[in-house]
Amino acid sequence: MALYRNIRFMLNRITILSDLRSSVRFCSDQAESISEEAEQKEVDPTKDRTKIIPVETSIRYLQSKAYQQTYGEKPVWTLYRRNHKGGFAPRKTRRSCVRNGIISTGNPCPICRDEYLVIDHNNTKLLEQFISEYTGNILDAFKTGLCQKKHKELLVAIERAWDQGLLTYDVPFREYDYSLYYKNQSL
Ligand SMILES: [Zn+2]
Repeated sequence: MALYRNIRFMLNRITILSDLRSSVRFCSDQAESISEEAEQKEVDPTKDRTKIIPVETSIRYLQSKAYQQTYGEKPVWTLYRRNHKGGFAPRKTRRSCVRNGIISTGNPCPICRDEYLVIDHNNTKLLEQFISEYTGNILDAFKTGLCQKKHKELLVAIERAWDQGLLTYDVPFREYDYSLYYKNQSL
């Protein structure tokens, strides 16, 4: 009899718990839908990144007066400093500055903060700023401050530009021993 009562008690408990769970889920669903509505209502137009800007516009922007006033002759990343907690900067840059089409940080990277800077293989004037003038290598994200997502896009764009001949690069200088190739000739 005691066993039977115990089982009944357990069953009752389970039903109560499942009821509770479903009610909690219902409440959270409501809360989520409310928060989504609130997000949809208040989107700061300066933080909205859902609009796709064509590359041609970006190329024209890089030659415009507005760009000159903002950046001058320096690369776009020179004046950028990342905000971080503590005395040392984090080892890696941010994974992404944009979440769900909206800028999710108060300190977005140099490419994300200006929506008219579009990374594309045709936008060579922008790509050149991320290549070292001394070594010809692509600058590290740690130096430029680009988020990891944009840095990957940049790597692809620069590779494509090199491949299509839009950007030039120096082939490493090699000294050959020509006597190996022309054995019978006297050089
Ligand atoms: Zn970014």
